This record gives sequence, structure tokens and C-alpha cells, in this order.
Amino acid sequence: MYFTKQERARQKLKSFARKNFICKIIIAPVRGIFELGCLIGRLLGGNIKKIGVSFISVLLFPVFSSFSFGIEAPTEMTDWTIDFEVLDDSVFIADNSEVSTDEILQEVDENVDREEISLEVTVNESGDIAKEDLYYAEDIINGYLDSLGEENEGVYQERDYTRTYDDYEFEPDDWRLILINKSHFIPDDYVVPLGTIYGIHQCDERIIPDLVAMLQSAKVDGVNLSIRSPYRTSALQVLLYNNKISKFMDAGMNYLEAYKLAGQAVTIPGASEHEAGLSLDIVSDTYTSLTEGFGDTEAGKWLASNAHYYGFILRYPAEKEYITTIEYEPWHFRYVGVEAATVMYNENLTLEEFWEKYLEQ
Ligand code: ZN
Repeated sequence: MYFTKQERARQKLKSFARKNFICKIIIAPVRGIFELGCLIGRLLGGNIKKIGVSFISVLLFPVFSSFSFGIEAPTEMTDWTIDFEVLDDSVFIADNSEVSTDEILQEVDENVDREEISLEVTVNESGDIAKEDLYYAEDIINGYLDSLGEENEGVYQERDYTRTYDDYEFEPDDWRLILINKSHFIPDDYVVPLGTIYGIHQCDERIIPDLVAMLQSAKVDGVNLSIRSPYRTSALQVLLYNNKISKFMDAGMNYLEAYKLAGQAVTIPGASEHEAGLSLDIVSDTYTSLTEGFGDTEAGKWLASNAHYYGFILRYPAEKEYITTIEYEPWHFRYVGVEAATVMYNENLTLEEFWEKYLEQ
């Protein structure tokens, strides 16, 4: 007698079930699945199109169901939309709205009247703002030279490798030395004398000549730096901080735990040097992310060993996290003036330690 493959399989299952009671129990669901398979097979009747459609439907089911259950792939970057108010040629952040980066840049160029526009920024894991606000040294230098006018040759300064400033008298009320950290908030009445570095980038205008000189010097040494997030309004700092807290809370922490941990990654609003216009996140043209790896790049090494000649310090060094309470940030540079920067570099001091040694008597 001739049996089809299916019939032979069915016979085997039946005979297995006849062995004993346990086999009977085991075989019941197996037979169910087997019969269902046979039924689907008969219905499709070898029609290749039907089989294809069924196969794709089965594949797509988990995709659609994950949407409906709100399961999302974890993302590294978060998009924020922030309102900017253009006052003359300055840009200030207010709150939420929806215009793209290109649009704001166009608006800034074409229209410097008082008008509200907005900018999409991308916030990365460390809470610092990403690519959209990055400018290359080349553009910053050229923009600055243009603003100086024709009679100026530039701001290039040869590094002075010999001066140690051992005899320099440091004053606690020197604007360059203001200590800003979690226990020294920026005073409410602190006014930042804002100047434009380039495009939408601003910082304390008094540090711009030294900044451009540093960019030029790096360029001469074959290092092309880029600048990100110099001056930040406190509104933006609040946004970055809250973003970090909600990320930690999403990961299962309670508010207090999240608040504490966020403080190690993003500076608490009011305690960020970015809000005082004295700090810049500096990367290179090829390594643009604010990650620890920047410290191992040519540009990261150049900055670590040359920034002090131009008055800048690596504010959060790796081995001083217990003093600064901020994780190692090889990209974050703070202006303190060439005298203090040189002393701090030579004596391996953080700004906290410098204050203790030279300014708190
Ligand atoms: Zn920074």
C-alpha cells in the first residue's frame, strides 16, 4: 500500500502515543501542530505566491507588534528642539518649537532682527550637544580675522615655553579665576560679556583672542581643532540635566539616584562653566564626539600639553575626579588666563586645588 509522507508521519505519531499514558500526553500537542501544518499546506496547495505572502506576514508580525506595544530600539542620540530668540546678532535659547538647524542658520544670516526662531540640537550620551553646533578652526579663524579688519595680520602667538609665572600675584576677584562647581554656583547677578566666536557660537568675548591664537597655533602644528557648545544658557543646561535624569529613571533608578548620577555626567545647572561663557568643548575635525577616546587622539594630546600657553586648562583630568567630582573630559577646556594656566599645568593642579593653594588665605 502507498502512503504519503504525511500519512507515514501520522502513523508514527499514533504508534508512539500507543506506547503508554505519558507518551499519549506528550503526543497530543505535537499532533495538533502537525495537523495544523498539514492543513496550511493543503490550503496553500503549492501556490508559491501564497506561501511567500504567509512567510512575510509571519516575519513582519513581531515588527508591527513591537510598535503597538511601544518597544523601541535603544538610541544613543536624542533630538531636542529648542527655541532661539535672535536679538541683534546674538542667539538666545528659550523653549520648544520646530525649525531645523539649516533654517536657523539661514535666519541668522539673512535676518538679524528681533525674531523668534528655533534650532534642533542632538544631545549625546554624555549630555553635551552634538554635531549641529560644531565649527571648524579654519572658519573660526577666518571669521575672526575678517572681523578685525584689513590692518590686522592675525592673532598668532608664538608659545612662550620659558615663563613659569612663579612670581605672579593672583587675585581672588580676577574674572578669569572664578571657581564654578557644584559647591560654587555662578552668582545670580553674574553678567557674561558675550561675544560671537563664529556663527551661533558665543562665549565671554575677553577670551576670544587667546582662543583663536590657540586654534592657529594648533593648525601650524598640523592639528585641526573644532569647537562645540561654548556658551550655554541656563535654560539649556536645565534641559540637558533633566534629559540625563529621565534617562537614568527610565533605566529603573529613583529620582534621587538619577539626580546624583546625572551630576557626574552633566553639570548641575548653575554650576556649569559653559553658563559663564568661560569653557569650550574642543574636539578635532576628524574626531568630533565628546568621548574619552578624544584624549588619545593627536588633537587631544596637543590640547592637553599646549592649551595652557593660551590660558586654557583641561578642567576635568582623569586622575582628579575625586576633587572635581566630574568624570574625565578630555574635550572640556576652561579659560583661566595664561599665568594661572601655566602654574596649574606645571604643578598639576585643578582649579579647586589652585584656589586652595593661591587664593584662599
Ligand atoms: Zn563641556
